[in-house]
Amino acid sequence: MSMKYKFMNNDDVSQRILICPGCGEQLTCADIEIFPACPFCNHRLEKNGELEDFILEPLVRRWINRYNTPFIVDSPPPVTFRADLRHGD
Ligand SMILES: [Zn+2]
Repeated sequence: MSMKYKFMNNDDVSQRILICPGCGEQLTCADIEIFPACPFCNHRLEKNGELEDFILEPLVRRWINRYNTPFIVDSPPPVTFRADLRHGD
């Protein structure tokens, strides 16, 4: 697979920057996760494995971090009954 895209911060997946092939702007995965085009020049980003990794790796990394974190059980919010929701009687 040929390297189509240029990236910065490759050593930190969550801080990875994609260099737009059209205008050279620095894009984060949040910039293109909704629509795969450069928000600066509207360059349509061609889907390939690199681009998929760029989008997915931070997500996967977050998921793994969460998986490794001891599970914290939040106490459920107190249940409140509203008198006006009662029926009958
Ligand atoms: Zn661009």
